[in-house]
Amino acid sequence: MARKLSIKPWRNKTYVLIAVALLILAVEPTQFIRKITDANKEAQAQLKELNKFATTTSWHKSYFDGAPKDYILIIGESARKDYFHSYGYPVSNTPFLDRNYSVMVDGMKAGGTYTIGSLTNMLTLPDKIKWQPKYDRTLIDLAKSAGIRTYWISSQGMVGKWDTPVSAIGKKADVVVFLNKGDYSTKNISDYALLKPFRRALKNPTTQSRLIVLHTIGSHPDACNRTIDFKNSYRVKDKNYEYLACYVSSIKKTDDFIGRVYEILRREEKRTGRPFSIIYFSDHGQVHRVDNGKILLNNNVTSKFHYDIPLIKIDSDSKGSVILSSEKSGLNFTEGLANWMGIRNSDIPSYDLFDGKSDPQDFGLKAKIESIKTPMDRAIDLSPYID
Ligand SMILES: [Zn+2]
Repeated sequence: MARKLSIKPWRNKTYVLIAVALLILAVEPTQFIRKITDANKEAQAQLKELNKFATTTSWHKSYFDGAPKDYILIIGESARKDYFHSYGYPVSNTPFLDRNYSVMVDGMKAGGTYTIGSLTNMLTLPDKIKWQPKYDRTLIDLAKSAGIRTYWISSQGMVGKWDTPVSAIGKKADVVVFLNKGDYSTKNISDYALLKPFRRALKNPTTQSRLIVLHTIGSHPDACNRTIDFKNSYRVKDKNYEYLACYVSSIKKTDDFIGRVYEILRREEKRTGRPFSIIYFSDHGQVHRVDNGKILLNNNVTSKFHYDIPLIKIDSDSKGSVILSSEKSGLNFTEGLANWMGIRNSDIPSYDLFDGKSDPQDFGLKAKIESIKTPMDRAIDLSPYID
């Protein structure tokens, strides 16, 4: 009895927390309060920045005549096309995609060389001369105007220098899930964590078509942080190739992630009879950098291969697979996605990402690539170094 009554403050979390807080306040009250105030100010500034892009839509009315279907758009991160086995990389790091693609486009070009620069052009109907996004013409608003229910599920940061304008596009969706509400470095969220809210989204009974965007963290630096929970990573003995092994593994993890998304959709299809289509693409590539003999990949400068991104489609009713060599500009991506979803709108010309024809115009892309002074840095074969 006496035991039960005795006060053991260290056993009580609240007591301990209060005690720690008081201790901090006693030690450095001004610094403690200043930190909170700074964080609040920063959050408010970021929210203001985010709202700046929240313009109203200027799309004219859209039409959608197709049967209800689930469209899954998986956005990859920093994944160079030439590091995918599906596109010829010697290490077999894309076992799922190799077997399951319906259409693979060889020649897709990013809308820019970094996340914001690329995705804001690819997910809005941009000014193609200036390579500038138009936030009143987003993919999300377009899908909504056609009566498609929209979801944006992200493991990327919600705010910050590298994320805010893309998040502003995502925030227009009917259902928005940001697993990381800070900037990208606040939390290390695995792309596998996207699967739970994805499953939840699919469980909602609906007769509408759905566009579910999964914005992955993919191969974002540090690639070794991306693969912490991935069991099938490549191991190398040579320390100089360790980072490269992480990068090649991060693409293998993405392949596995796409495979899991596919399995979930197949199960749902059995339950509901709803067909689906998946598109995977990456926002841009990366450049090699050698630091003290170690091969790194990052985005500090631009590679001539920065614009070369994978574009892969998987249809639930696919009858086979085809590889199309055609140069497609990221600046036409929203038109292409509209066509994929069967949306008709007078603001956009009919345009097919998967017709195998090169775009007649590259909007100055060749000149942009020519102006890149970094030497050619082709993909480095990891296979001789794998344990
Ligand atoms: Zn990016």
